[in-house]
Amino acid sequence: MNLDTSIEFLKGIGAERAKVIKSILGLSTVEDFLTFYPNRYLDKSKVYLIKDLLEDLPDVQLKGRITELQEISSGKIKRLAGKFQDETGTMDLVWFRYSKWMKEQIPINKEIFIFGKVTLFNNTFSMAHPEIEIEEKKETEVRLRPIYPSSEKLVKRGLNQKFFVQVMKNLMVEMPNLINENLPNYLINDLKLMSRQAAYFNIHFPKDLEHFQAAERRLKFEEAFFFQLSYGLKKQYHKSHSVGNPMPKVGENFNDFYAKYLPFELTGAQKKVLKEIKKDLAKPIQMNRLLQGDVGSGKTMVALLAMLLVLDNGFQSCLMAPTEILAQQHFNGISELLKETNIKVKLLTGSTKKSERKIIHEDLLSGELSILIGTHAVLEDIVQFKNLGLAIIDEQHRFGVAQRAKLWAKNKIPPHILVMTATPIPRTLAMSFYSDLEVSVIDEMPVGRKEIITAHRREKDRAFVYNFCKDEIKKGRQIYFVYPLIEESETLDYRNLMEGFERVSEYFPNPDFNTTMLHGKMKPAEKDAAMQYFASGNANLMVATTVIEVGVNVPNASVMVIESAERFGLSQLHQLRGRVGRGAEQSYCILMTSDKLTNESRKRIKTMCETNDGFKISEVDMELRGPGDILGTQQSGVVDFKKLDLVNDGKIIKASKDIVEKILKKDPQLTDASHISLKNFYVKQYKAKNKWGKIS
Ligand code: ADP
Ligand code: MG
Repeated sequence: MNLDTSIEFLKGIGAERAKVIKSILGLSTVEDFLTFYPNRYLDKSKVYLIKDLLEDLPDVQLKGRITELQEISSGKIKRLAGKFQDETGTMDLVWFRYSKWMKEQIPINKEIFIFGKVTLFNNTFSMAHPEIEIEEKKETEVRLRPIYPSSEKLVKRGLNQKFFVQVMKNLMVEMPNLINENLPNYLINDLKLMSRQAAYFNIHFPKDLEHFQAAERRLKFEEAFFFQLSYGLKKQYHKSHSVGNPMPKVGENFNDFYAKYLPFELTGAQKKVLKEIKKDLAKPIQMNRLLQGDVGSGKTMVALLAMLLVLDNGFQSCLMAPTEILAQQHFNGISELLKETNIKVKLLTGSTKKSERKIIHEDLLSGELSILIGTHAVLEDIVQFKNLGLAIIDEQHRFGVAQRAKLWAKNKIPPHILVMTATPIPRTLAMSFYSDLEVSVIDEMPVGRKEIITAHRREKDRAFVYNFCKDEIKKGRQIYFVYPLIEESETLDYRNLMEGFERVSEYFPNPDFNTTMLHGKMKPAEKDAAMQYFASGNANLMVATTVIEVGVNVPNASVMVIESAERFGLSQLHQLRGRVGRGAEQSYCILMTSDKLTNESRKRIKTMCETNDGFKISEVDMELRGPGDILGTQQSGVVDFKKLDLVNDGKIIKASKDIVEKILKKDPQLTDASHISLKNFYVKQYKAKNKWGKIS
């Protein structure tokens, strides 16, 4: 037997049950079964009294005797009903499935222990299918009894807790032949880890709480460690195999701009990040860097400065944004900043005219054009550069991996890559998921930014909210009203938006007020016009769907009203809020919801009202949704850990990352004698299964 053997051959299972277990629990190999961990444990040292029972207790153990047992039939259906008594009271026992043989085995008027979950029924506690242990046969060595994830379906097929416990016990006899130590001795000693075999034993049959905790810690560490190792090795491979154009020069374009045209002092965080990028660019290795910075933290300026550095070294750059509006806005902003220089910048999107396109293509090839800004259109094969040195992707979560890969191919020596995102991901996730990208963080806002004040309001407060908006408009400010957009019900959302638009227009009538609208069904040119109309200050109000979520920058807008805010996810709410608070004025975010909220949406709204910190918000988001959802379904397999919990095990993840880095620095090929078991395990388990995909 080995870890890949089918569970069919485990003592106590057999072909028939193996099929059931596979279809219900998805366990097919011995390894699957061994890592089918209990989800809780019953403390067998604790004996409950009937008088102390509560309705929502987990499984409990009671001591007493069965005083009555009888078969009851109602129509065709028969059940077995019993009375169980201890010195404090009486409760019911019931069996819905039983055989004649089983019935005869049930001890009457004998001192016994029973285990199971109690429910309250007609004011009496009752336990269905109790497990029974006779006093003199009671196991003494086991105090914590494993309770495995179960379902009614399993129990109906006779695969109850007793079954799983028995099979697992049988497997434990074999386990030492199946499991070898995979961590070096010095680590086990340094970190005071339980041995691997002991951990497998104690995770199923812990002697006490301490043993359980030690086993769990060991298994978590192991998962984190090998995950980090696989990324560490990939990163190392990337560093030694990927070439990049070294760009060590800081020249005229950068220096001139910095001295003459930079409209503000960079924040400390922007400077720090720029330094990191500079250092990367200078190396003959392709840069792969993720730039995280909360909305409004000033990522665009960092991007521009990086592009100027690249230009100083004789290379072209491109900046890609996920929407036309954003690309246009980047183009406007950057052209404005560079207007006194003779650096050539162009915009390429789906709606760029054919004649203009042709010129762009030519200028890119000749090297005339230094900076190209655009949407997905930039990825088309026909777009070829003379020497693309840097590709920047803004708001990365909108772009797929395949699209990013396309950028690599735009130059013989792949361009340096900078991915920018305003969706902060929790640090534990960044450490694991992005561990093959270098991560830079802008963790500081430009000075003078005021915290956005966020409030939760309901339908009954609508008039109040509108009046508040009127006051803000009188002060010269502008307002966003955003409606949710859910793809499955596009028509419905569209109707909501139209109604919203009418309502707002009614309350804020022409000619005193101007309202404009923006939604996904509009043509690019119409969207553009609407956006322009608002950005230029001609419209006081903008009624929109989440089209405006990403990146839109209108510093004079000071109020963001989010309609049906309970329908938005946390990161989306945070993104939307980031559309205001971009100027010097005090800004507000008003979350309108219906009266009835689920616990989860209440938590989201509360979090928004409590903090402006994108990292804190992302932590709560991960708690609510789980890491898989945050990364998107495509990547959720990457964080498919058995024991490790990305929400709560940040310390273990961090520790394992540091340790792996140290090991690879000293012994990059893992050839040291102390690393043989580690290397063997890695090669067999992780490489063969190719579990961890490359990300960028
Ligand atoms: P984001 O990181 O969300 O992309 P932007 O780059 O759009 O943020 O910057 C938001 C706003 O802050 C812009 O108006 C930009 O000009 C301004 N800004 C950026 N850096 C600074 C700074 N160091 N000091 C003052 N304002 C800044
Ligand atoms: Mg931005």
